[in-house]
Amino acid sequence: MSGKVHDHHVVIVGAGFGGLETVRWLKGAGVRITLIDRRNHHLFQPLLYQVATASLATSEIAWPIRHLVSNRPEVTTLLAQVVGIDTAWRRVLLDDGSAVSYDTLVLATGARHAYFGHDEWEPFAPGLKSLEDAIRLRRRILLAFERAERESDPLRRAALLTFVIIGGGPTGVEMAGTIAELARVTLWRDYRNIDTRMARTVLIEAGPRILPSFPPDLSAYAERALQSLGVEVHLGQAVSACDGNGVVYGENHLPAATVVWAAGVAASPAAEWLGAPADRAGRVEVEPNLTVPGHPDIFVIGDTAAVAAPDGSPVPGIAPAAKQQGRYVASVIRARLKGDTAIGPFRYKHDGSLATIGKRLAVIDFGWIKLRGALAWWIWGIAHIFFLIGVRNRLSVALNWLWIHATGHRSALLITQGRQATMSPVKERQDHREGGP
Ligand SMILES: Cc1cc2nc3c(=O)[nH]c(=O)nc-3n(C[C@H](O)[C@H](O)[C@H](O)COP(=O)(O)OP(=O)(O)OC[C@H]3O[C@@H](n4cnc5c(N)ncnc54)[C@H](O)[C@@H]3O)c2cc1C
Repeated sequence: MSGKVHDHHVVIVGAGFGGLETVRWLKGAGVRITLIDRRNHHLFQPLLYQVATASLATSEIAWPIRHLVSNRPEVTTLLAQVVGIDTAWRRVLLDDGSAVSYDTLVLATGARHAYFGHDEWEPFAPGLKSLEDAIRLRRRILLAFERAERESDPLRRAALLTFVIIGGGPTGVEMAGTIAELARVTLWRDYRNIDTRMARTVLIEAGPRILPSFPPDLSAYAERALQSLGVEVHLGQAVSACDGNGVVYGENHLPAATVVWAAGVAASPAAEWLGAPADRAGRVEVEPNLTVPGHPDIFVIGDTAAVAAPDGSPVPGIAPAAKQQGRYVASVIRARLKGDTAIGPFRYKHDGSLATIGKRLAVIDFGWIKLRGALAWWIWGIAHIFFLIGVRNRLSVALNWLWIHATGHRSALLITQGRQATMSPVKERQDHREGGP
């Protein structure tokens, strides 16, 4: 700790993994910090699918930002949406028309869904990025079973009991495995007119294999493991249409009431705010020290930044990468305050890739060792519990998982925040945008 107080104002936009880590590593640097986020909570996105599939409650994976920095008097938290950056006057522009001045700016605003030019699919195939998304998906999944219980037409009932996941990355695989288990293990005793074990879970991936960022043998294992859970995996076929009746992929039309989008993300619009060069996913092409070209006082980190790892491959959009960048930026700011401007470039270190398949299996690629099966699942579980914030949450999540592991029962089978049980996707979307109950 330097002890010296500088009249230097660091504004950090985004209290996700990258932003919070920057705050953390600026402790004792003697700077004033303003942390701006449009939500009042930090979200542990890796476990979002467990809220969407009724395994965990929202409060187990999200924490009030204000509370997380309450022991840091130099940090001011603002609940506000950033809509632009005035680089000439060094001001962050907020949605209410006000502005916040900065000496150093850190943009850590994450990513959003990308529908590859088909934004009209979004109401029918929602993605998973926020707590609202997760609750909306949970409602949609549980309502499909409820409506199937009351449906007498066999074709409509079959569509209600068909769950399609578009995209075979980690989130798609996790969603598919858990929905299949929900139908086959958790719910079947609760219904009288339908057998939920007959529900279809279909995973559609445009590429030749699921989990493309993993080695081929782990992808093949994950595919077999999903199939043993009852998931139908369709590879090499992109979805070409999606509406309230289902999806079209390849030559097939699949009637389905519930479609989940897990196929693509784009960066937050930081590049547009800055007029900065961006890659195809909209990520700001930053300098090796994570600053914006021509703006040494502005850093962009995490899912919003495009930067290369030491081996030339792009740094992946995952939580450890955002955290490493946050830590690095804090060290650059500290060094600059001491007059040291010759800091080396950011060097990403990849610690490994993990993905879980249902409640008992997982795949892990640490580079030097590859694991799969039950042992991988336990390591996945312990790693995720370790990274949660707070002892109470760790205990609560661990207990929930052990309970689900042992009994198959899930504690969060709640349909909330929808006006009607039979709400159409379009109406539901309108409600969601209007902040309906
Ligand atoms: C469903 C899902 C599962 C995932 N699973 C894993 C996993 O298993 N392992 C892993 O390592 N990674 C996983 N990831 C990726 C990981 O969550 C991201 O890489 C990581 O969150 C990126 O950190 P970040 O700081 O860049 O952005 P985020 O953590 O997304 O934080 C961005 C913050 O910026 C705020 N914000 C955005 N725009 C504005 C604005 N205009 N004004 C104010 N505030 C704004 C947001 O509210 C948010 O709090 C997953 C992501 C998702 C969506």
